[in-house]
Amino acid sequence: MVSDLGPRGLATLAGLGPFASLWRQLGQHFHDARLQQLFGRYATYCGSSPWSAPATLMLVAQVEMDGVWSVTGGMHQIAKAMAELGERNGVQARYNTRCEKITLHGGRVSGVQLASGELIETDHVVFNGDVAALGAGLLGDALRRPFPTRPVAKRSLSAVTYAMHARTQGFPLVRHNVFFNRDYQREFEDIFHRHQRPSEGTVYVCAQDRQDDGLGHEKAERILCLINAPANGDEPAPNESEITEWEKNAFEMMRRCGLEIEASSAQSVRTLPQDFASRFPGSSGALYGQATHGWLSAFDRPSARSKIPGLYLAGGSVHPGPGVPMAAMSGRLAAATLMADLGLIHRSRRVVISGGTSMR
Ligand SMILES: Cc1cc2nc3c(=O)[nH]c(=O)nc-3n(C[C@H](O)[C@H](O)[C@H](O)COP(=O)(O)OP(=O)(O)OC[C@H]3O[C@@H](n4cnc5c(N)ncnc54)[C@H](O)[C@@H]3O)c2cc1C
Repeated sequence: MVSDLGPRGLATLAGLGPFASLWRQLGQHFHDARLQQLFGRYATYCGSSPWSAPATLMLVAQVEMDGVWSVTGGMHQIAKAMAELGERNGVQARYNTRCEKITLHGGRVSGVQLASGELIETDHVVFNGDVAALGAGLLGDALRRPFPTRPVAKRSLSAVTYAMHARTQGFPLVRHNVFFNRDYQREFEDIFHRHQRPSEGTVYVCAQDRQDDGLGHEKAERILCLINAPANGDEPAPNESEITEWEKNAFEMMRRCGLEIEASSAQSVRTLPQDFASRFPGSSGALYGQATHGWLSAFDRPSARSKIPGLYLAGGSVHPGPGVPMAAMSGRLAAATLMADLGLIHRSRRVVISGGTSMR
């Protein structure tokens, strides 16, 4: 890529800010710390700290200015649409079935072993669980060595979430809302350096039944509160009094901003990093694979073709990164890589044609 860019391209690349931290670069544009805090929030889209993420993530704000997409009928419609498309093309989906092992023969993939004991023989597997599960040996000991384990320091953010059916009052909520704390730097130091829940975390509130007009809802509505937390889901869950105290702080912070949320415990589901860790095996609760910290982080993510012949990787923990659109892109990359390896697509050699246009 570097040789393709040439000296002028390299200057453009450097201008994208891979070597500066997002926080430092934002400081050159905004003199009000609150605006710096607001735009620094984009680092958390990939589970990272604005103090360690490269300034390149400023591009997310640029992209959002063109508008954001929402899915008619909710996010699960994407999964549903893909399942229907697959079924029309002969895919047989197995739901609620754990894959216990990816089996190897002679160093290459030979099949998958399900928890039911069934063995499905195959030469090719696309794995889209967290790639850290492979290094942890959760898909068989043979895969431990080729895949590195993810050290605690490289884990992305986890969260404590509350999914509620609640009445709210006192604050003109829109669809997406962020309630910032007072000491933003301390929050990220707590999470990434001290590996502890911050005493006062930023709270993201999604009021998914609302538009952006800020009009109030008289009736109870669907609310999701997400509070940043360290990915310590492999440790024992905190005791109930600890978590209640922390929860009180978060809701008290929103109350100070004017938002009152009224939900009974029967209408509220709490999810801790420990719950995310069991839902996404190998992740330790990290929701976005490894953190995007430092300029090399983009090159540090595993790519679609793994070191094991026949095993391909997709999902939020591999290239290009986390989030539904990026995970979907990684699925396309895995499919294209597999098809290329099967000889189903051919790439033409790169040539320079007269007139100087370089094409693939
Ligand atoms: C609370 C929360 C909020 C988020 N908010 C956003 C957002 O606003 N926008 C956005 O773009 N992204 C968001 N994300 C991130 C986004 O959900 C992920 O990046 C994305 O879903 C990753 O897709 P995936 O296919 O890689 O993995 P997943 O969606 O995690 O799917 C992988 C599936 O594989 C299953 N699995 C793992 N191992 C095995 C096994 N051995 N056998 C069988 N099944 C297995 C898992 O149970 C899981 O269901 C959020 C994530 C969370 C948790």
